[in-house]
Amino acid sequence: MNDTHDPDWLHQGLDHIWLPYAQMKTAGLPLPVVETRGARLILADGRELIDGCASWWTACHGYNHPHIIDAIQRQAARMPHVMSGGLANEPAYTLAHRLAALLPGDLNRVFFAESGSVSVEIAMKMALQYWINKGEQGRSKFASFQHGYHGDTLGAMSVCDPEEGMHHMFKGALQEQHILEIPGDEESRKNLDDFLAHHKNQLAAVMVEPLVQAAGGFKFHDEDTLRFIREATQRHDVLLIFDEIMTGFGRTGTLFACQAADVVPDIITLSKALAGGVLPLSATIPSDRVTDAFLSDSDEAAFMHGPTFMGNPLACAAAHASLDLFETEPRLEQVAAIESHLNKTLSKVRDINSVVDVRVRGAIGVIQLSEIDDLDWLKTQFVDRGVFIRPLGDVIYLTPAFTIGEDELSQLTDAVIDVTREWSRR
Ligand SMILES: *Cc1c(COP(=O)(O)O)cnc(C)c1O
Repeated sequence: MNDTHDPDWLHQGLDHIWLPYAQMKTAGLPLPVVETRGARLILADGRELIDGCASWWTACHGYNHPHIIDAIQRQAARMPHVMSGGLANEPAYTLAHRLAALLPGDLNRVFFAESGSVSVEIAMKMALQYWINKGEQGRSKFASFQHGYHGDTLGAMSVCDPEEGMHHMFKGALQEQHILEIPGDEESRKNLDDFLAHHKNQLAAVMVEPLVQAAGGFKFHDEDTLRFIREATQRHDVLLIFDEIMTGFGRTGTLFACQAADVVPDIITLSKALAGGVLPLSATIPSDRVTDAFLSDSDEAAFMHGPTFMGNPLACAAAHASLDLFETEPRLEQVAAIESHLNKTLSKVRDINSVVDVRVRGAIGVIQLSEIDDLDWLKTQFVDRGVFIRPLGDVIYLTPAFTIGEDELSQLTDAVIDVTREWSRR
């Protein structure tokens, strides 16, 4: 890439900013973005890249959707923020009401925070206290699944895949949880059932990303598997948490992934696309069964938790605008169209020998390679083709904005196919 076009702030800041998931000593320069437009990133030197990952799966309506920008501007002029202790703000209260109506079953009471990891921490703490409030001792452990990812804070890390979450490095500091195989076949189903029967008295909850386990390798499971997990946790009376931080808001084809399987968890977590991809916001939403255990005449049963920016009115206004767009624009139809485009195009690389698997679900397209040993080569190849795609683990994936144009989507899939072919020829 051409250094001479890099802006001064990039080099000045690089010595002072901590980069995500990177060995900073050797990491390549990040691409300086100065503007966004629809599904495009505009770089400092004027180049435009079509964004294949919608900024970590947040920008479901593309960037800069005027309806969202307008809502934020109006809210900012009126009231950017007030605390939630003792004060109520309309965007947060109406958003809680609106989310409860959209969510299936009796997921009715919304706890707002500002990031996905924090919403997972809150879900875990809620599950722990649920059993304490119920008078059941010793329900202090969680079970989750291989290839799962639930965030980077300590509690969330403890339920991530042990490899991805680097459990070995933090041994002793992390709570040891039970990480199980996804019950996709008869044998693993029996194992899960036996495990729950055996350990239920120590378990607060089981946690899973429904249908698509994203950051831990983009593994898919089907509706039957999800239904089995729901039935097994019910049978053994263990709470079930769905982490829909990635899958929520249309990504897998239905507004929430759990709706495809027609199951309702005891607690759901949402974030990423919740505020249309423009502001940080998350929500932890328990069912009435869980909430009821916190309602009591004694203060002791109360949930002692309240993030500083809880229910931030700006973020909630953005979330309202995002939900408006799901109502007024054909988002789920767009997801279906992306799904069929991805199915048609990505299958072309299925027979290449370095390709292990090609899978598509909703607006998620995945090419799994036998291994990715030269990430920088891949990234450069993509940028050279005018697209921003960030491989992860052993997969190249596409999770574009739902509003992406047909031509832009073709440019993304053409690039992926082309680069995958080049990769196996290297
Ligand atoms: C991204 C993600 C998280 C963590 O969210 P942050 O906002 O990055 O803390 C948790 N769970 C899932 C499924 C995610 O995709």
